[in-house]
Amino acid sequence: MKLSAIRAALADLQLTPSKTLGQNFLHDQNLARWIVAQLDAKPGDELLEIGPGLGALTGAALATGATVRALEKDQRLADFLRARFADEPRFQIEHTDALEFDPRTLWARGPVKIFGNLPYYISTPLLFHFMSPAVPVARGVFLLQRELAERIAAAEPGTKDYGILSVVIGRRWRVRLLRTLPASVFLPEPKVDSALIGLTLRAPDELPPCDVQTFERIVRAGFSQRRKQLRKLVREFLPDGSEAKWGELAAGFGFVENARGEELTLRQWIGLANHVQPVQPGNAQDSQGEIFDVVDAGDRVTGTATRGEVHARDLWHRAVHILVFNARGEVFLQKRSPWKDKHPGKWDSSAAGHLDSGEDYAEAARRELAEELGMSAVEVEAGLLEEVGSLPASERTGWEFIRVFRFRHDGPFDWPAAEIEWGGFFPVETVREWTAGHPEDFAPGFLKCWALPIFSNQGNAGLLIHEKFAGVKNT
Ligand code: SAM
Repeated sequence: MKLSAIRAALADLQLTPSKTLGQNFLHDQNLARWIVAQLDAKPGDELLEIGPGLGALTGAALATGATVRALEKDQRLADFLRARFADEPRFQIEHTDALEFDPRTLWARGPVKIFGNLPYYISTPLLFHFMSPAVPVARGVFLLQRELAERIAAAEPGTKDYGILSVVIGRRWRVRLLRTLPASVFLPEPKVDSALIGLTLRAPDELPPCDVQTFERIVRAGFSQRRKQLRKLVREFLPDGSEAKWGELAAGFGFVENARGEELTLRQWIGLANHVQPVQPGNAQDSQGEIFDVVDAGDRVTGTATRGEVHARDLWHRAVHILVFNARGEVFLQKRSPWKDKHPGKWDSSAAGHLDSGEDYAEAARRELAEELGMSAVEVEAGLLEEVGSLPASERTGWEFIRVFRFRHDGPFDWPAAEIEWGGFFPVETVREWTAGHPEDFAPGFLKCWALPIFSNQGNAGLLIHEKFAGVKNT
């Protein structure tokens, strides 16, 4: 939008740009096109814009042929944009606070590219809100206050700009400082310069693997008091005996004994996370010797065989899937780790696994809750495990007789990184839309469980579960 068009629109709307909402409108059209070009958007892509304002970037984004959904907190601007792009079926505007927007709902539409000239007062929480592993983002392009952009994109260990954002965002994203912009390209002019950053996902093998939960926990602890030595801040996370050998440990990672968090590189943080919670990628060969019961067509035990044999000879055997629901009626899904021999990286039931020889279905379900979600025996008892369906063995279940359980727990969970890359609670309606729109995102066993009448046919399985378990508290 040209400066004159912005002035006219503001006068029409009788709108004085709000400082509180960080309203500084971009009036350089070439720049707007250049910024949007960094998204590499194509017809058919799904874009999400945060804070579209009067639509300077929105117009350029729509010109790429992509679909644009925009989140704007100011009602007058949302109404203005609805009218401005009324003839554009690929445009959708929502009057909402972007921090209140539930990004989990985006899974149903597939990966999105996110962009925005972010309101400076909430840029950091917005980045954490949208660029987390719980959100299906393929790329991000953001205009930020220059100082913040440098902190994320260019900060080196040991500098004052280097912080949690640089490390946590940097682990998943390759961040590039694309250019700086003078205040004069905005109306009104902000007091500080701005800069544009571009985020693209790192390749899976670009950095060593680590337990993401542990990594984020120690990074937050390590930066919680910048003047304090790292050793003191992460003490509680260290395995027994490590603190006494801190000097040796630090030397092994290549930092000094009295280092502070801000002195560690990303790789050193990952190394430390791996010391605290080693990742042991499951070796498919190691588990081939596990012993399972083999059953007949009526699910009666007829003998035993190793896991390897059972799978190689398509023998009937047994498995459980557990779907955990929280108080809001949302279901917890796990993203299988990239090292799993079957269906790596796919979304799956909250917990699932084979029965060991001699085990019954409910025992196996309890064991899986403990092993995969880190629950204590007391928690497993309190969650009221309930069998809600079964699936006969077939080629599609991998010749498994499956019993399906539901369980009540609000999390958070502590999962082993070798099994689970990430996990989160999702509204039932979101999972219904997601499984319908992108079944390829899921392990086939979960899709079969989710198709059971109890989850698929009832108006809202989650709500029913919520009522049923009302009053049940996690310990
Ligand atoms: N994209 C426009 C441009 O480049 O000209 C406007 C950018 S302006 C820096 C930030 C925009 O974010 C404003 O339109 C403001 O109303 C909007 N905004 C502020 N807080 C918001 C929030 N919490 N959620 C969504 N939009 C917000």
